[in-house]
Amino acid sequence: MKICVDLEKCQLHGQCVIAAPELFSFAADGKLQWVESPSGSQRRQAEEAADVCPEQAITIEA
Ligand code: SF4
Repeated sequence: MKICVDLEKCQLHGQCVIAAPELFSFAADGKLQWVESPSGSQRRQAEEAADVCPEQAITIEA
């Protein structure tokens, strides 16, 4: 599984950070950082983050 974030769409609202704090966070410089290749057991969290993103910037590849 791979998580992709389209940073041109991302508006840094942070809903993904709230929904999946193990996978998404803000770096000290304010940029969004995320786990690009999470374990299979984290799929549900990744899907929740993608669902709540208001910009639909998160895609999950099998
Ligand atoms: S929820 Fe979407 S728009 Fe907001 S920070 Fe996360 S990826 Fe970016």
